[in-house]
Amino acid sequence: MVRAFCFSAPVSVSGGGFLRIFLYILDMITDLGDGLGPEMSLADTAPAVAGTPGKLVDPFQRAITYLRVSVTDRCDFRCVYCMSEHMAFLPKADLLTLEELDRLCSAFVAKGVTKLRLTGGEPLVRRGIMTLVASLSRHLATGALQELTLTTNGSQLAKYANDLKSYGVERINVSLDTLDPDKFRAVTRWGDLDKVLAGIDAAQAAGLKVKLNAVALKGVNEDDLAPMMEWAHGRGMDMTVIEVMPLGDVDASRLDQYLPLSMVRARLAERFTLEDIDYRTGGPARYVRVAETGGRLGFITPLTHNFCESCNRVRLTCTGTLYMCLGQEDAADLRAPLRRSESDDAVYAAIDDAILRKPKGHDFVIDRRRHRPAVSRHMSVTGG
Ligand code: SAM
Ligand code: SF4
Repeated sequence: MVRAFCFSAPVSVSGGGFLRIFLYILDMITDLGDGLGPEMSLADTAPAVAGTPGKLVDPFQRAITYLRVSVTDRCDFRCVYCMSEHMAFLPKADLLTLEELDRLCSAFVAKGVTKLRLTGGEPLVRRGIMTLVASLSRHLATGALQELTLTTNGSQLAKYANDLKSYGVERINVSLDTLDPDKFRAVTRWGDLDKVLAGIDAAQAAGLKVKLNAVALKGVNEDDLAPMMEWAHGRGMDMTVIEVMPLGDVDASRLDQYLPLSMVRARLAERFTLEDIDYRTGGPARYVRVAETGGRLGFITPLTHNFCESCNRVRLTCTGTLYMCLGQEDAADLRAPLRRSESDDAVYAAIDDAILRKPKGHDFVIDRRRHRPAVSRHMSVTGG
């Protein structure tokens, strides 16, 4: 049973409303058995009419069906690879309200987005965040949205796990880089491991499927990844390891942090049997089954293996800026068209325009010659 809540009535039949409904029905019809494969339909390959609902396809014929939303750039941790210790955050006055975030997310759903991930910063520190989750859950109820999920550091999960589950969230990602309390404190600067572990307990008790995300950090958690994987698999959780990306200035050299996952995998392979499997979650992770634990381990390798050819996502910040690629500076402002009118037509047109500018991919490099980050903004702004 999914609880639902609305900031406002979801459908208003005025102005372009009849046209929108007509196009929606057309989409539904063309989605049925067209022989284009499980995830592509005629509607996916047809360009959207600018300024209307209709599916999003970028210049490289990638269907855009996944939106990540950074609901705040603030966080109760200061992870050494994500932020500097004395971060300057966006002025609160620049933030979209929860109602505005809901409206933008809903516009993307009307544009064919079927998966929405709330992230940040830390999404669960945004005041009133459950109102947004509750409101967005109406798109799960209609079937327009297939998945509503979030990525969290887990610090507030004990408080919110039951609510998340009751609003239709089924799976969440929890970021955890080590099970050693002292190292955890050193990596997060401000974090308390016990709180995160209590959050994971609460999430599992509420029936949420939990996946752990760990950033591989040279000389920091190399020895911790194997025991953490065994612990995760013992509790029925998948785990994904991620290469550190050169996003934003942090108070450390990326070269000192960067640990290629080829090395992580080689080390794990000394103790475990890693069998490549086809399992996909719609993201960039490539999975293995670990024979000894029976669990799944994913590798996300933006540095050693670029995965952009299958990219299906765009990222929205808490100020309404849309980034078409995590690793490029180009962005589109959706806040101005959003505030210009109560109609969503200008927002649809701005989204269409932005998707046409989605680049082929990123080109992250960490080496001795480059001392500047690939992009100046931190992961917490774009939304990891
Ligand atoms: N605060 C939440 C959390 O930590 O899960 C959500 C936001 S955080 C920016 C999302 C993910 O990005 C986390 O898994 C984090 O480890 C990862 N991350 C942050 N900065 C990164 C970087 N420079 N390179 C790779 N991953 C990074
Ligand atoms: Fe906060 Fe997540 Fe960044 Fe850590 S990785 S500082 S928890 S936003």
